Amino acid sequence: MEDCCRTCMPCLGCMWNCIWPEFHYPNVPINDDTGATRRPADIRTISGDISVPSPKKRPVQLYAALFDFEARSEEELTVKEGDKLSVIEKRGDYVLAKKLTGSLESGLVPANYVAILQDEFAKHKWYYGNINRGKAETLLLASQNQDGSFLVRISESHSDEYTISARSEGKVYHFRIQRSSIGAYFVSDKLSFGTLGELINYYQNNSRSLGVPLGLPCAQQRELFDMEPWERPREEFQLHRKLGEGHFGAVWEATWTTEHRKVAIKMLKQEDTKQDEFVKEVQALKSLHHPKLIQLLALCSRGEPVYIVTELMSKGSLKAYLASPEGQVLKSAHLIYMGSQVAEGMAYLEDRHIVHRDLAARNILVAEDLVCKVADFGLARIIKDSVYTASRSTKIPVRWTAPEAALHQRFSVKSDVWSFGVLLYEMMSRGKMPYDGKSNKEVLELLASGFRLPSPARCPQNIYRIMLDCWAPEALKRPSFHALHSQLDSIYARIYFKTIEV
Ligand code: ATP
Repeated sequence: MEDCCRTCMPCLGCMWNCIWPEFHYPNVPINDDTGATRRPADIRTISGDISVPSPKKRPVQLYAALFDFEARSEEELTVKEGDKLSVIEKRGDYVLAKKLTGSLESGLVPANYVAILQDEFAKHKWYYGNINRGKAETLLLASQNQDGSFLVRISESHSDEYTISARSEGKVYHFRIQRSSIGAYFVSDKLSFGTLGELINYYQNNSRSLGVPLGLPCAQQRELFDMEPWERPREEFQLHRKLGEGHFGAVWEATWTTEHRKVAIKMLKQEDTKQDEFVKEVQALKSLHHPKLIQLLALCSRGEPVYIVTELMSKGSLKAYLASPEGQVLKSAHLIYMGSQVAEGMAYLEDRHIVHRDLAARNILVAEDLVCKVADFGLARIIKDSVYTASRSTKIPVRWTAPEAALHQRFSVKSDVWSFGVLLYEMMSRGKMPYDGKSNKEVLELLASGFRLPSPARCPQNIYRIMLDCWAPEALKRPSFHALHSQLDSIYARIYFKTIEV
């Protein structure tokens, strides 16, 4: 609650402020229909204006209708099973959805008639995503592979289409997978399939149709992605100042002289025991590319100390930022915007069955304009089943860790969702230590008795509800990161455009 609401009966104005923080809008007419650009809300802080970008008007997440639904009133929307939809907002048991094809109409559809379309390919071992033709050939011709090895990659010339690259008699052949106007996949227009999985399955079982047999998916060969493409001579980096000290060693701000850019360099302390974890962090970083995850840029692994070079995040860790004078004056809207970015980065990991295991404000990095990225992949693991059972000796950040993971080492995307709830608590309380004053043992006992962290002062109720959802005792009842991202995004958009109904 804002202070005014603690002291007076809530009038409408107070109720507004109680739920949404005060926002200052620029004195320019806002006109959606004419396409006039909305300027970001500028909020004065002691260090100047913090500008945040306009929220995306179009939800990023694609939905599909699960069943046919016949509209019963003008407000409702008739959909057919499989219709692709974007969900504008949730309204009780309904969603306000817009068709993405055909009539492009919008209207209400029962919420249980629609489902989020996940990145359906991430689970397939043959899916290599955005690699080019040359890389596909190098991979398939490596000694771990044989005739029949294949992979599927995003087409270089048509980004919504795919290419099968398959090895046969020591050569690599490429077949373009096209999309029909209704979204079906086909190599030959005589045979089309609803999903890429069905298409691959068919050609794995009918080798003659393609002319080249499809056997086993291309073997993962880490070493091909290993040092060489990333390795740079350390003379290319000029160290300026120490930014902080972590588990592995110091982090420095530096200039990458040949690239003319500022970077951050993490150095490995020369202790053998840490080498293993360090290598795991590097391996995890190499395969991850997302604007909301910290990007690996280069390595200096020959000689010591080893350097991991990443993009520089000018405002450092979110934990330190929240405690800074600038962090202390952030409004809920800013924090929701930042939380939404973290959820977006985590949704990318969710699609790839990667658990982070150390999601907390200390491991989120902040740059100008409140850009946030998930960092610290030292504990991240790719999980084959939905749960990763860690060894008992693994050190666990108990206050951020879901009970099933802290007590039984059962880590999953859903235990990361629990940690995300604690991260939201850290954000909304502007950097408070969760369960302050309690020992780790007391925290676990409290959680077992059903206790949950209280709502931070000035935390909008719907954000606290999201935290409680993340802390559902049953892991499967916790929301997905995709759902969290879209909820936070839509709350942020509604605050920004002041369309929230109180
Ligand atoms: P640990 O590695 O033990 O989990 P940590 O996250 O604090 O702890 P590091 O990742 O080594 O450790 O980072 C130490 C500090 O250096 C961070 O708290 C942050 O302030 C700073 N830092 C790390 N990476 C960057 C970066 N890419 N840009 C700017 N500052 C960074």
